[in-house]
Amino acid sequence: MEIKHNELSFQLMVEATPTALIVVNNYGKIAYLNNFSEKLFLYKKNELIGQDIGILIPQNKSSNHPAYIKEFFVNPKSRQMGENRELYALKKNGVTFPVEIGLNPLVTVDGTLVLAAIIDISDRKKADEQFRLVVESAPNAMIMVDNRGLIIMINKQTELLFGYSRDELIGQKMELLVPDRFKENHSNHRTSFYKKPTSRAMGAGRDLFALKKDGIEIPIEIGLNLIPKKDSQFVLASIIDITERKKNEEAFKEYTKSIEHKNQELEQFTYIASHDLSEPLNSIQGLISLIMDDEENNIDENLIVKLNFMDQSVTRMKELIKGLLDYARLGKNVESVEVDFNLLVKNVLSDLESSIKKHEANIIVENLPKIKAYELEIHLLFQNLISNAIKYRNSTIPPKIHISAKHVNNLWQFAIRDNGIGIPLDQKDKIFLLFQRLHARNEYSGVGIGLAHCKKIVELHNGNIWADSEVGKGSIFYFTLAVK
Ligand code: ADP
Repeated sequence: MEIKHNELSFQLMVEATPTALIVVNNYGKIAYLNNFSEKLFLYKKNELIGQDIGILIPQNKSSNHPAYIKEFFVNPKSRQMGENRELYALKKNGVTFPVEIGLNPLVTVDGTLVLAAIIDISDRKKADEQFRLVVESAPNAMIMVDNRGLIIMINKQTELLFGYSRDELIGQKMELLVPDRFKENHSNHRTSFYKKPTSRAMGAGRDLFALKKDGIEIPIEIGLNLIPKKDSQFVLASIIDITERKKNEEAFKEYTKSIEHKNQELEQFTYIASHDLSEPLNSIQGLISLIMDDEENNIDENLIVKLNFMDQSVTRMKELIKGLLDYARLGKNVESVEVDFNLLVKNVLSDLESSIKKHEANIIVENLPKIKAYELEIHLLFQNLISNAIKYRNSTIPPKIHISAKHVNNLWQFAIRDNGIGIPLDQKDKIFLLFQRLHARNEYSGVGIGLAHCKKIVELHNGNIWADSEVGKGSIFYFTLAVK
């Protein structure tokens, strides 16, 4: 009773299974098929039972089939059919389709039969084909390697990059494309890759090279992608020739070095020149005051006006030289510290107190952050921007200045907004260059170093500075500081 029940459920299971199951005897005749086989091959059961299995095999592929059947019965054991061969089956309507077949011996009282489990792999083949097409048209070289390191697929770009034809590469060890001195390590790397396989860039921190057919080595970059297969994993390596990039990097390095050198020379020159120029100016100014203070000189009003004018010019020149000196020194021997920007701005405002009072400036400061920065430089930065906001005020209304900061990505972005005269759109970038001024000296005093200074300070903090403005309405100066 028990056995009967088991047999029944087994039969139900076989009938319901979504795989075609066909039992064949040792003469190659079909002895049994399940429901799904009817669906797959479009035959009714009674049309197939007793028929030669050859009826389900396309003519051109079946010539050797009887021999294969014999071979199976000589050594009957469960296995995949047609390993390394592509298998096809034939439907009643004449349509051929790719299949995968598992064979299992069935030992019965009537002798040994074979149970064939047949899976339609059309969809998988289609997906494989689509995958192949994508790889083929990829703009970089792509090579698929099996877990033994054998090349099983390449694309057109691989042929172009390495100079080998497809036939020369398929079936070869990947080491063919690896320069001799890396060969041994390469197989070690492969072993450790398979111990912990993940899709990733290859050779992090190492310079990678590949060997072309003509013996020339090229620097490359490789991305590894895992392609899961039935019982193993293949690797699809995507290879980029970085010869050009390396060349550009080298050239850029050289260029940066020479610029740095020139900068150093220029800064040294500025420093010495500024220093040496201040000396005679101090003497001239000393002499001017000597002449003016000496009552015996009995100088007339006219001369006093001229001497005053000279004194002013010398003062201006000293300011200019000091500005240049500061500019050249900026960023030398500085150390960043935690800066409380609320406190810092408060100090700047107290430095500017007399000017703020004189022009009745209204300054609103929002809550500002604490950031690691070069304190003295940041003090100067705010001082320049706030004093400009007061200096370039509208003559009709008192200055109103708003200072704020917000966190954007990995930066702090500060904004200093005024209601002053504004800056014409086409001049917005120019004002950050040394000595660029938009106004006549008799209109607004200044030497045109302040904003260049600000730019250098901000760049010292890996930030940017820029302005937004509307003529007659006011300006907003923005700058960013990297969060360290
Ligand atoms: P300086 O103020 O000594 O002339 P800066 O480098 O500080 O030099 O500024 C360069 C120029 O940018 C100024 O001459 C002025 O024309 C313009 N500028 C700077 N700040 C403002 C502002 N807040 N509003 C309008 N124009 C400004």
